[in-house]
Amino acid sequence: MVYLVGAGPGDLGLVTFRAKELISQADVLVYDYLVHPELVKWCRPECEIIYVGKKAGFHSVPQEEIEKILVEKADEGKKVVRLKGGDPFIFGRGGEEARTLAEDGIPFEVVPGVTAALAAGAYAGIPLTKRNVSTSLVFLTGHEDPAKPAQQVDWRAYGKLENTTLAIYMGMGHLRHILSELQAGGMSAEMPAAVVQWASLGRQRSVSATVGTLADAVEQAHLGAPAIIFVGEVVRDHEQIDWFEHLPLFGKRVAITRTRDQNSELREKLETLGAEVLELPLITISKAVDKHTLVEILSELGTYDWIVFTSANGVRYFFEEFFKAYDEIRNLGLLRFACVGKATAREIEKYKLKVECMPDTATGESLADALLATGSLDSAKIIVVTGNLNRDALVRKLEAGSAIVDRLPLYQTQRTDLTNDPIADDFRRLGADAILFASSSAVQSYQEQAAALRLESGANKPLVGSIGPQTTETLNKVGMPPSFEAEKPSLDHLVHSLVRALRAGSGHR
Ligand code: SAH
Repeated sequence: MVYLVGAGPGDLGLVTFRAKELISQADVLVYDYLVHPELVKWCRPECEIIYVGKKAGFHSVPQEEIEKILVEKADEGKKVVRLKGGDPFIFGRGGEEARTLAEDGIPFEVVPGVTAALAAGAYAGIPLTKRNVSTSLVFLTGHEDPAKPAQQVDWRAYGKLENTTLAIYMGMGHLRHILSELQAGGMSAEMPAAVVQWASLGRQRSVSATVGTLADAVEQAHLGAPAIIFVGEVVRDHEQIDWFEHLPLFGKRVAITRTRDQNSELREKLETLGAEVLELPLITISKAVDKHTLVEILSELGTYDWIVFTSANGVRYFFEEFFKAYDEIRNLGLLRFACVGKATAREIEKYKLKVECMPDTATGESLADALLATGSLDSAKIIVVTGNLNRDALVRKLEAGSAIVDRLPLYQTQRTDLTNDPIADDFRRLGADAILFASSSAVQSYQEQAAALRLESGANKPLVGSIGPQTTETLNKVGMPPSFEAEKPSLDHLVHSLVRALRAGSGHR
């Protein structure tokens, strides 16, 4: 079965529920340019991921080739998700792919998506229709194929329409031509017109002007594709009801350091405030189970008092292994759960298990203190789930409290190769307004990758933000003293201090 799925205009919140469900079940994911890379992370680890879009310097995979891939993979009995930006049936050649599948007798489903024009209207405060002002809305493509004159848009005819909003896709390459043809058709040079680039994303930019002045305004502001061009009286509302570009972090590029596997709570918080987020994939966490220790610990689970987690990944990997060995949650016995912070707790609570111990500050040492404070550690047997970066401080403190500690290594943390990574490349070229560190280990991995992240000349040098005293200490040690620190070590406080720091700095930078 093949699913032709619209991925929406970019913002993750605008992906449909059905799309998310299908992506997380796919055997094969075929996607292209303009699809948010984060969506790919929703796939199962076994899913085969095929990129068919344009890469810098490369052409995209030809349409026939894409269709061949869809057919072949479906013939192998796989669940194939073909993700396309926006809506698959709007200037996306989704119809052609559906035809091929129909001809080959392959069952398929089409999942609509929020098309770019709708997102651009909403996110730029341009209502696409309006009572008594605009009673029709036309979607047009400005991409004209000179080889097929018969298919060219008759712009002059559209220049005659009244009470109409034009939403032009793929028009930036011919902007001047389109605008002058509209005027040649009779449209007034005073007609409001706008361009919205990267709609719904933190890097959205827009310019509003008139049909007579838009081309110059766009050139001055250096706007380019991908963008929607709007023409019509409704553009006037932009000035009053534009909301997105007034969010506190709008227009700010914020780099964060998270691993590919973690759910990006910080990213979400920043994007909600309008920031463009660069998630530097410094480290990759992968499962690395010490089989011997695992078998020993799992077979004696009943003898332990506490199990301690310092990351959400640890929880996920633990339960994967646990359910391979047992088919029932009751085999956990009377094990009590302790964890380092909220994200880890949420992962535990998915199994309807109660977290009995969690420190206010999300560090290994505070976790040890919180466990000691329960007064239950004397001769208690404790499992500490770890990665290859040992949690020595935590373990030592617990042992000092007379606990018997067994380490259970379930994952390892490795450096990601950033040489050809598109996000790292973007960071090197343009820099960022700020970079946030949410843990000491993030600082360390950043430091290890410093050579691969060196900014090019002219790149914006970011302010450095720290989540708390420990991270600040590490930042100082590596020679990157932070410009601001969160009042309390939580993601919300970190974001809050970022907003303040950028506001304070905006005069000078
Ligand atoms: N199927 C897509 C359109 C693909 S054609 C959809 O329904 O949206 C590609 C064009 O879509 C781009 O040239 C640009 O005009 C527009 N586009 C796609 N994403 C956009 C975005 N985030 N902001 C503005 N325009 C976008």
